Order: sequence, then structure tokens, then C-alpha cells
Amino acid sequence: MSETHTGPNTTSVVQLCPKCGSASLSTDGSSLVTPDADVSCKGCGWSGRQGEVIGAVFQHQMGSDEQILKTIVNDLRNSVAQHLTVPIGRFLLKWGFINRPIDARELSRYSVAVAQAMLRAIFETREQMEKERTHGG
Ligand SMILES: [Zn+2]
Repeated sequence: MSETHTGPNTTSVVQLCPKCGSASLSTDGSSLVTPDADVSCKGCGWSGRQGEVIGAVFQHQMGSDEQILKTIVNDLRNSVAQHLTVPIGRFLLKWGFINRPIDARELSRYSVAVAQAMLRAIFETREQMEKERTHGG
């Protein structure tokens, strides 16, 4: 096998806490741990088994698993902050989740939570798709 430099497709496994959606999980450091291995979340203190973690395998063109994960999380957070904070704020105001004058910290907390939930939903969907691909057709 010849040495490859930044190949076009690196396969990564990205994992998220099933409780809070944080990517700050402490595992053995290996992405090939068994489903019974202990995992804990540095974000919310959740602890459980590897098998409970939301994970997705995907291909990309940049960096290590850790780098890609940071990039993904930041990308979605920035995207939500940039494009969705206003509609989210409007929605929250409309239904009385927040009141005028708007507390910027509250709004930002909602928007971060929305980003995390979105990421979790995306990963869960991806995981589901992977399973369907394995079992079906
Ligand atoms: Zn957590």
C-alpha cells in the first residue's frame, strides 16, 4: 500500500451524548470500542454504555475525527446563530416562551439547544439510514 496524503474520502465515526447531544464524550479514545464499554459525557455528566451513544459514520475530506466533529458542531451552531436566532426568537415570543424585553442570554441558550437538538436529529437519522442500508436491500 502506498502512503496517501489527505485522501478524498476519510471515514469517520462521530459520536454524541444521547442526553444532551454534546460531543464531549470520554471513551477509551478508540472509535472501535465495544457496545458494552463505559462512556461518560463531560457536558451533562451522563454515563452509560457505548451502545447508547448516538453515532454516525460518514465520509469527509478533512482532518481527524476530533477536528471534523468540532468543525461540524461549530458549523451548525454558527449557522443556527446566524440564520435561525431571529425566527426562533419570533416563535418563542409568539408562544410565550420568552417575553419582551428579550433576554439575549435566554435567546442564545434556546438557540444553542436548538442547534444541539438538530445535530442529534441529523445523527439519529443518519444512524437509522445506516441500519436500513445494512439490513435492507
Ligand atoms: Zn451529555
